Amino acid sequence: MGPFTAFENRTWIRATLEMQTALSVGSRLSLEPTGTDMPVMKDAQGRPFIPGSSLKGVIRFQAERLLRTMARKPDLWACDPFGDPCVPPTDADKKGNAMASRDALMEKAEREAQASGRSADEMFAEQVFQNSCTACRLFGSPWFAGRVAFKDAYLINAEDLLVVYQIRDGVGIDRDLGAARSGIKYDFETVVPGACFRIEILAENLEDWEIGFLFAVLRMWSEGGIAIGGKSTRGPGWGMLRDITFQRVEQANLLEYLQRREIPFSSDWDRFVSAFAKKLAEKSGEAGDA
Ligand SMILES: [Zn+2]
Repeated sequence: MGPFTAFENRTWIRATLEMQTALSVGSRLSLEPTGTDMPVMKDAQGRPFIPGSSLKGVIRFQAERLLRTMARKPDLWACDPFGDPCVPPTDADKKGNAMASRDALMEKAEREAQASGRSADEMFAEQVFQNSCTACRLFGSPWFAGRVAFKDAYLINAEDLLVVYQIRDGVGIDRDLGAARSGIKYDFETVVPGACFRIEILAENLEDWEIGFLFAVLRMWSEGGIAIGGKSTRGPGWGMLRDITFQRVEQANLLEYLQRREIPFSSDWDRFVSAFAKKLAEKSGEAGDA
């Protein structure tokens, strides 16, 4: 069964992001000299949160880096979504990464749909997915939604912090030169170091090895070395993931889930780590389409 046809499994991943340095989220590097122009995002109750889209951006970026070091079609590779996408709109846009274009796949699906008795849409979706890189398959592409979704991550330890927010001074940075421009100052608001955010990720119909790969990416974040927020090159935004756990509903425990609605979160990732290790070891055995 393909990833679009039916429910196969659903995995919730939960973790805590603990900030080592201040966090400036939702910021655009503005050179406006007035006002607090880089607020942390807050909801209607004034609670700070990291938008799911920011988290997805960070995780996808790290996943793509890892996939580029593996660089193996058809299952372990990443395209360059902007410069050299896996499935560009037309054949004329094809570069090194692309095996097929959207237009060509659509034509093919329409041609073959009648004979196969299936809908052209379904065949197109399947074909695009097969021709897409691992990152697009997981996180989405212009042609289909991803199977991994990120919720907004809320602060969970406000009561443990003396203050939640700090205003910092900044000096305007020239985007092109990376140099400080004199006379342009601005304030920006940060959430203090020590702040903890609840990360929640929902993954639908992922194979075991794909969950293992996602876990490998998250584990990189548990060792630090990954920053979030618009100003990461200048210091703020460094944090570590802790307590990475999952809850998975699949055929084997679907009935239990439907009856009790309660399946405990687990930190035993062995099954998924082994599946991913096995996928990696397939290296020379798999010919690939390319
Ligand atoms: Zn891609």
